[in-house]
Amino acid sequence: MKTPNALNQPVGILTGIGAQTANRLQKLGLCTLQDLIFHLPLRYEDRTRVYPIGSLRPGMTVLITGKVEFVDVLPRGRKSLICRISDGTGFINLRFFHFSASQHNALKPGTAISCFAEVRYGFAGLEMVHPEYKVIAHPDECVTESRLTPVYPLTEGLSQNVIRKAVKQALELCKHEPELLTDWIPEPILRQYRYPTLASAIQTLHAPDESVSIEALQNGSVPALKRLAFEELLAHYLSLRITRNKTKAWQAPSFTVGAAEKTATEHFIRSLPFKLTGAQQRVIAEIEADCALLHPMMRLVQGDVGSGKTVVSAYAALLALTAGYQVAVMAPTELLAEQHFRNFSAWFSGFETQVAYLTGQLKGNARKAVLQVLEDGTAGIIIGTHALFQDSVNFHRLGLIIIDEQHRFGVHQRLALREKGQQEGIRPHQLVMTATPIPRTLAMLQYSDLDISIIDELPPGRKPIVTSVIPADRRADVINRINSWVGKKKQVYWVCTLIEESEVLQCEAAEKTAEVLTQALPDVRVALIHGRMKSAEKDAVMQAFKNHQIDLLVATTVIEVGVDVPNAGLMIIENPERLGLSQLHQLRGRVGRGNDDSYCLLMYQAPLSDTARYRLGVLRDSNDGFVIAEKDLELRGPGEVMGTRQTGQMQFKIADLARDADLLAAIQQIGDAFFTRSPEAIEPLRDRWLGASTEYSEV
Ligand code: ADP
Ligand code: MG
Repeated sequence: MKTPNALNQPVGILTGIGAQTANRLQKLGLCTLQDLIFHLPLRYEDRTRVYPIGSLRPGMTVLITGKVEFVDVLPRGRKSLICRISDGTGFINLRFFHFSASQHNALKPGTAISCFAEVRYGFAGLEMVHPEYKVIAHPDECVTESRLTPVYPLTEGLSQNVIRKAVKQALELCKHEPELLTDWIPEPILRQYRYPTLASAIQTLHAPDESVSIEALQNGSVPALKRLAFEELLAHYLSLRITRNKTKAWQAPSFTVGAAEKTATEHFIRSLPFKLTGAQQRVIAEIEADCALLHPMMRLVQGDVGSGKTVVSAYAALLALTAGYQVAVMAPTELLAEQHFRNFSAWFSGFETQVAYLTGQLKGNARKAVLQVLEDGTAGIIIGTHALFQDSVNFHRLGLIIIDEQHRFGVHQRLALREKGQQEGIRPHQLVMTATPIPRTLAMLQYSDLDISIIDELPPGRKPIVTSVIPADRRADVINRINSWVGKKKQVYWVCTLIEESEVLQCEAAEKTAEVLTQALPDVRVALIHGRMKSAEKDAVMQAFKNHQIDLLVATTVIEVGVDVPNAGLMIIENPERLGLSQLHQLRGRVGRGNDDSYCLLMYQAPLSDTARYRLGVLRDSNDGFVIAEKDLELRGPGEVMGTRQTGQMQFKIADLARDADLLAAIQQIGDAFFTRSPEAIEPLRDRWLGASTEYSEV
């Protein structure tokens, strides 16, 4: 039940907000007074004191007063009005490129004015370009403001003044009726973290008093901001937990392991060409326990590249099959889907079911045939790309969805997939796998709707990849090394990276590199793979590389995901300083898949900055994806660790995962306690921060 709240009123009720302005505010997502109140300033301007002109330095944005010494229009270069002012401690020029005659007239020598702008170097000393200025009666007149001035995010046609006035009115309302801003964070927590109340935090951020420094506001360390970030992250966390609880309440098929099933699973494990690692066995047990329940499993399996996640998912598939259900396995690329198709086909060849394969490439009758075997249940396992989840695909009895390389899909996609395969109120189990080791704190927010299993052990015999950091001027040595490596019948990856996200440029660079290497290595079979090639072309190249018809594969970062070529044990990564550590680790994981020694050469462009040197050192010294991800988080922030695609999905108004990462651990603990201690606060918090979008809730 919602109680009517004055803050739910539309912005249009405020004085000075007509229909047009209300429309513009709406473009910023500001519809109600509550929205306005949570629309925080981007930054602040300091008009609380007047600076002596003699103390100014370029880069300062300040308030000054002085008297006009002279004013003139300079025809030189671009026509401009120059006005020199001085306050006895020094002088500064004001420069206007656009000016009116009346402006010119008003700035007569001797006139006192106050100005506010950034100070820059001009051709004749310091200057302010187009300052905000006011003619005053006397240079000593009080022109300061008592508080820092907020600067809000704007949209076309909206001015700071309009928004400032609107916010001010909304704040006044809250001042008179403080209960409008209900504080859902319990007192003891506020006390423990020394957070201000909600009302006071809001007040501080819109209209900071003299106790708050502009620096603390800008760098996010002011408790008022921390508190709001905390509350927002908490609201997201709670929302995801609710999603989880709701989904957990759905019915799912139970895959119990009875005597008959036991024979099948034991046979499956015995027929594998290797012994499962302890970690694989543990995760399998966790999956088995989940699937025995009558509620959908929602489990994320995290495991470093090469840790053997595929076979674990195959075991889950086996459980579904023996219980008489279908399994859908979704991979982010055709290449990977195809690799899974081959693995699953081999593993399930002894079963009386068909393993089918569906990608966007499949057309016409071939496609119809696959849709048919899915619908009538002839195919127990279907492997494919996201083509699997198109409307035309109908399952006979889908019991399990497996999603590989989860980090390629966003939160929303993942949630949407849950709906697919739902039949008569029964939802399939879901197993998602990722090789991106997400630091625990982030995982807790990003995946709080999932249970997490970690495969923290590599199959035995794997030797760590020997990583070296070398400057690009040792290219000739590297080329020699490739020659002798290929001479030993082994294969090589050469990865080109570019700083721009531009795929075109990346591909051009790779093309050029492939040409150069082809010339430098006449006895080596060189091929090229990049993101602008058609999937079929890419697959053909990759297939040829797998079949060892190619010795050296020049690639852009497209090879990042999941492809397995055990004979390729040497990788050169050009300009590694441009990539995030986690991404480099993923790339490097393409080698070291066999039992031989494997090498990764990080060939950087000198000179290397200290941070870059340190970062590459982390990679050289560690083969542990989790360690690397933690470092990456520390050095570059979560956007880089998880990929923009994922962080981009989580839109925060105030919180900044990089800045506020320190809050996450506490949020999990406090959030969990909310369900028993303050359940009444959950809905309003979700409303306040996720609003009508309540994006995670309905799936
Ligand atoms: P990832 O976790 O990166 O998806 P894969 O499932 O592709 O790893 O496994 C990598 C390789 O390791 C595959 O060739 C797979 O057959 C092999 N493998 C998996 N588990 C084991 C194990 N317990 N012992 C030996 N090799 C294994
Ligand atoms: Mg994999």
